[in-house]
Amino acid sequence: MSAKQITDLSQLCIHSITTKPWSIEEAAKNYSAEGVKGISVWRDALANRNIKQTGQLLRDIGLNIVSLCRGGFFPDKEKEKRKLAIEDNLKAIEEAAELGAPLIVLVCGADPSQSLNDSRKQIQEGIETILPNAAAAGIKLAIEPLHPMYADTRSAINTLTQANDMAAKINSSSVGVAVDVYHLWWDPFLEKEIIRCGENHHLFSFHICDWNSPTTDMLLDRGLMGDGCIPVNKIRSWVEATGFDGFYEVEIFSDKYWQQDQSQLLKKIIKAYKENS
Ligand code: ZN
Repeated sequence: MSAKQITDLSQLCIHSITTKPWSIEEAAKNYSAEGVKGISVWRDALANRNIKQTGQLLRDIGLNIVSLCRGGFFPDKEKEKRKLAIEDNLKAIEEAAELGAPLIVLVCGADPSQSLNDSRKQIQEGIETILPNAAAAGIKLAIEPLHPMYADTRSAINTLTQANDMAAKINSSSVGVAVDVYHLWWDPFLEKEIIRCGENHHLFSFHICDWNSPTTDMLLDRGLMGDGCIPVNKIRSWVEATGFDGFYEVEIFSDKYWQQDQSQLLKKIIKAYKENS
């Protein structure tokens, strides 16, 4: 199965961190000028900003605000630190509401000084603690499974099966999952679990990029679609088969690309999106 070639940009969203050297205002202006329709905003891009006004600016320029990145990092052996994490997540919910973002992506966290199972329990507790505030604000929460190479400190949720299981256990229409091809492309159960997401109506986000081979950095060497070994088109076909009609979100952290001219990078992203996604 392969997905139909993309011919327009109506479903293209770019994460602000992809063009990190640009301020949020510059990113908005340049994305919009190239015909991009969506933006996912990283919280660091909102530092020293009036968040409400920034949200208005993004909408006025013609962008849909797709999500706020990110919440999470719930687990910690120390109770006091878990409390701080909850406070930060409640702040993220307020920020999302001010910005007008309908969804927060959760990078769930892990504490290497305790077992993965303990971290997972604390993740579930954390999500359940912030859930009433998120639901009251009309903000959805997407559990993003991260590649197992990040299981020590970034996330104890490493497969879509685990994310689906947790969303099913929490059982709220406000809690779903984010599928990021970078984290999940290798998983033999990916197609099956994407189908399961669709059946449970909790496939909230779809993130795309590529896995450079060989990769030179575990965090900051993501590739443009088509540069690496991820079958982005095939995975997109599975996502579309669920009825997903949201944005395809380009999320690339790359020291290499951040050093290049960002206007040229934006053109490369659009080309890769049309030709290799
Ligand atoms: Zn992602």
